[in-house]
Amino acid sequence: MDGPLFTSDPSSSIVTERTEDTTGPPTPTKFVFVTGGVVSSLGKGIAASSLGRLLKSRGLRVVNQKLDPYINVDPGTMNPFQHGEVFVTDDGGETDLDLGHYERFTGENLKRTSNVTSGSVYLSVIQKERRGDYLGDTVQVIPHVTNEIKDRIRRVGEQDVDVVITEVGGTVGDIESLPFLEAIRQFGNDVGRENVMFVHVTLVPYIATSEELKTKPTQHSVAELRSKGISPDVIVVRSDREIDEGVRKKISLFCDVQPRAVIAAPDARDIYEVPLQLHDGGLDAVVCDRLGLVTGPPNLDVWRAMVAKALSATESVRIGIVGKYVGLPDAYLSVAEALRHATAGHGLKLDLVWVPSEELTGLLADSYLEDLDGIVIPGGFGYRGVEGKVMAIRFARENGVPLLGLCLGLQCSVIEFARNVLGLHDANSTEFDPTTPHPVIDLMASQEDVEDKGGTMRLGLYAAKLAEGSKIRELYGQELVYERHRHRWEVNNRYRKDLEKAGMRLSGVSPDDNLVEYIELVDHPYFVGTQAHPEFRSRPDTPHPLFTGLIAAAARRGGLGAGVQEKVDLTVE
Ligand code: GLN
Repeated sequence: MDGPLFTSDPSSSIVTERTEDTTGPPTPTKFVFVTGGVVSSLGKGIAASSLGRLLKSRGLRVVNQKLDPYINVDPGTMNPFQHGEVFVTDDGGETDLDLGHYERFTGENLKRTSNVTSGSVYLSVIQKERRGDYLGDTVQVIPHVTNEIKDRIRRVGEQDVDVVITEVGGTVGDIESLPFLEAIRQFGNDVGRENVMFVHVTLVPYIATSEELKTKPTQHSVAELRSKGISPDVIVVRSDREIDEGVRKKISLFCDVQPRAVIAAPDARDIYEVPLQLHDGGLDAVVCDRLGLVTGPPNLDVWRAMVAKALSATESVRIGIVGKYVGLPDAYLSVAEALRHATAGHGLKLDLVWVPSEELTGLLADSYLEDLDGIVIPGGFGYRGVEGKVMAIRFARENGVPLLGLCLGLQCSVIEFARNVLGLHDANSTEFDPTTPHPVIDLMASQEDVEDKGGTMRLGLYAAKLAEGSKIRELYGQELVYERHRHRWEVNNRYRKDLEKAGMRLSGVSPDDNLVEYIELVDHPYFVGTQAHPEFRSRPDTPHPLFTGLIAAAARRGGLGAGVQEKVDLTVE
């Protein structure tokens, strides 16, 4: 297993398992490019993540990267309802949610360089053009844009790494992906074909009327890829059922790949089962052979045990996520995954309930919350849905329902407490009511009057000091912890004394004591809030302590208390 996750020194983000081999010449960094065909949402990101896990389990140092064809410079300003959550890296990058999958599967903390968008590429090309860096050349997609893309890939390969796995977003045939495909084609020539390979993920649909799995769309997709000058070395075949030998042979023949390089990936029972499935299909062996990587077999013992534990769970806890974007669960992907890690770690199943915060008004509100064993209030921006969150928090506080507030969730907990316990009826955040008489959540002095809103965000890893004897300190088991942040507003220090006096413990603060990072209620089974986003650091094999604490409390509430410990231990003998 990796070292401790939650106290890691931010500078050592790449965990190295392999001891340096000093005999023989160093092996050059290898590059695997993952493309997708036929339809989107095939699980290309999961395939790229799973390959990362398999190679890492063979002792190789791996970095995943995503090339996104859209024109936004990063997903930071994109509506989560369209694009899903914004995943935040240790170094404060606002990135595509696939980076969350990469981190969860490989256990590597990535940097912002692992996400490249067309917008960011064009931005730097245009900036260079304005500066005169191109010395009067006509600036073109080939070579200027493609060179910029190749630089971004090469730069990731310059880290202490054996294999870079780069996923190209979108589907082969999209207009937007063309410069990326051209760049990865050229890349093979630049660094040597023996150092580069192409994995294509496609769909083999089942046609019910003829009771057949069809390979034609895969053939077309590979033909399209070839028309861009890229011949796949491996085809990962997604399907809703097992594929037989005949289908694999056909794909091998028509798409000109070795039969052993056609890897079946039927729908899995659990996404974390996919690395095991692809390993059984021979993916990592084919990749290592093709790239000349000599390693032993992967050590997947912990992973296997973890998946087995998750799949054998029978009893479930019912957790509600109260949010604004519940219509698109991807908007809270890392939160849902962190809940899954924690429940699986406790040997339980997750019964996840999406509660639309805007509908939590009036007398009906309680009916949404009554059956829940635990509640999570996730992060968010803007006033819409906030009153419903405050309502849910009040319900949790008054009825002893375990609650975890994340970022905005902490802020709403403070607002609720100020209004209903301190009696400050109009208490609010100045984000929602700039003229509130009781700004319990406010911008810090240095953040006011800044034109560029993005510039004022607290982004990336920050440290917090946890108070002796607090619940949160007990859960983390450490005094100094690091978590990722993405927010502007903070608990107003003017109200700290009053909050504490009334029973809200401010159990974690920034090392300079200037910012409140964690809160908890003393007389409550589990009422915890954090200004950070711990969900970004939860991993299936190391569930996050704030989430395992929530699930333990929820299990007790649901009558499953026996045998459920506060912390989980996934080590295998
Ligand atoms: N809108 C709040 C702020 O900016 C909370 C942000 C969040 O939940 N990520 O401080």
